[in-house]
Amino acid sequence: MTQPLSRDRSETVFEDYKGEYTPDQALVEANRCLYCADAPCVKACPTHIEIPQFIRKIATGNLKGSARTIFDANILGMSCARVCPVEVLCVGDCVYNEQGVPPIQIGKLQRFATDHAFEAGWRFFEAGPDSGKHVALIGAGPASLAAAHELRRHGHRCTIYEKRSAIGGLNTTGVAPYKMKADRSVEEVDWVLGIGGIEVKTGVTIGESVTFEQLEKDHDAVFIGFGLGPDTSLDVPGAKLPGVVGAVDWIEQMKLGKVPTDGVRSCVIVGGGNTALDCVREALGLGIPQVTMVYRGVEEKMSGYSHEWKAAQTKGARVEWQALPVAYEGDGKVQRVRCQRLDTNKKPIPGAEVSLDADLVLVAIGQSKLGTLLSQLSGITIDGGRVATDEHGATGRKGWYAGGDCRNGGKEVVNAVAEGKAAARAIHAFVTGASNA
Ligand SMILES: Cc1cc2nc3c(=O)[nH]c(=O)nc-3n(C[C@H](O)[C@H](O)[C@H](O)COP(=O)(O)OP(=O)(O)OC[C@H]3O[C@@H](n4cnc5c(N)ncnc54)[C@H](O)[C@@H]3O)c2cc1C
Ligand code: SF4
Repeated sequence: MTQPLSRDRSETVFEDYKGEYTPDQALVEANRCLYCADAPCVKACPTHIEIPQFIRKIATGNLKGSARTIFDANILGMSCARVCPVEVLCVGDCVYNEQGVPPIQIGKLQRFATDHAFEAGWRFFEAGPDSGKHVALIGAGPASLAAAHELRRHGHRCTIYEKRSAIGGLNTTGVAPYKMKADRSVEEVDWVLGIGGIEVKTGVTIGESVTFEQLEKDHDAVFIGFGLGPDTSLDVPGAKLPGVVGAVDWIEQMKLGKVPTDGVRSCVIVGGGNTALDCVREALGLGIPQVTMVYRGVEEKMSGYSHEWKAAQTKGARVEWQALPVAYEGDGKVQRVRCQRLDTNKKPIPGAEVSLDADLVLVAIGQSKLGTLLSQLSGITIDGGRVATDEHGATGRKGWYAGGDCRNGGKEVVNAVAEGKAAARAIHAFVTGASNA
């Protein structure tokens, strides 16, 4: 069992924004599905869940079979149902979109089936007969959890090493609470670990308390699933002032504990990606009256999803497009952000500045990459900070595999699950001698 979380967490004020289907609603929606052969939604899902199949099983009242179809492809199918950006994945590719008909709400149907499985206490998979092999996994995020579960189905013993005390990676510490709260992710972790034979050692930083070489010596193969590193900061005057905080750090505090919001009247969020958009809605949801996003580009070029930005606007978000912070200012703590105005090519417009009030600044301009930690290991190639692998997750060092954000540079939970599972299959082939990669 994982450690229980505090009940007194800032994130608990958030409501679930998509809501759950009643059995009648699920039935009506499931019966709208065309059950396409060669369905585009299946191709759009990185874990290739047999979507028409699981929906048909809901329509025929076979909820257990439906959940099994989902978990067989994606063991984190319960959280993916809540956190996947379905608008750009499965739902975005539903054929109804081309016919001007509302697309099937695949995520909500997936949630209906998987929540039911959790409530009923159904378990679907057993560990394979002991293979005598032992695999180390670095990090307890979605990539390693999916890999470890798949490895157990093949009978390999697993030890996951996690530097934090919380398990689940960013699914526990990062995902916006109106999509999923930390306790739901932890519950899923316990469910995944229920297969048995996966030991999780928390508070162990590989590369510090245990060296990479030691890990290699003690195990038959190693999976690297350590995700991305700390928030990147802007190197401008005042960057160290109290009240200027990295966004992912702040979100983690909000999800696992309390973030102070008393007396915070205005918050500035720097960035235009999905983490920035999450912060906007989170800051507004925590009752901060004035929340302004500052992005150096134009709206059409922001990397955050447009559906998320639309949702943020309905909550009262403000924005300064084409503006770049050049100084955080204040007396002992941040009080203002001074920004340079930029043209459409992101070049400074001389003399054009704007100053924004800010008691809190959340810097959401990306996370650093951890791949360089491995650069002393011969055979492992680091490409722009990411761990380079073949399509199965094999690095150039024998027995070393990678998946998830550290490999793909930062995508979604469902990508981490797909990559973790693919790597597990390659590891199985390696430790059983079917391949020597
Ligand atoms: C703010 C935020 C919101 C997000 N929202 C969504 C969303 O709504 N939907 C979605 O699908 N995706 C979302 N994502 C992306 C998603 O969370 C990631 O793609 C996914 O969690 C990647 O999984 P992973 O296992 O590769 O890495 P992580 O989840 O980052 O897990 C890596 C784990 O490794 C541990 N670790 C790191 N270094 C070491 C070490 N040296 N030794 C031991 N342990 C180590 C870390 O503590 C961490 O627990 C979000 C990301 C962020 C930052
Ligand atoms: S895992 Fe995500 S992308 Fe795949 S079908 Fe489910 S909700 Fe869609």
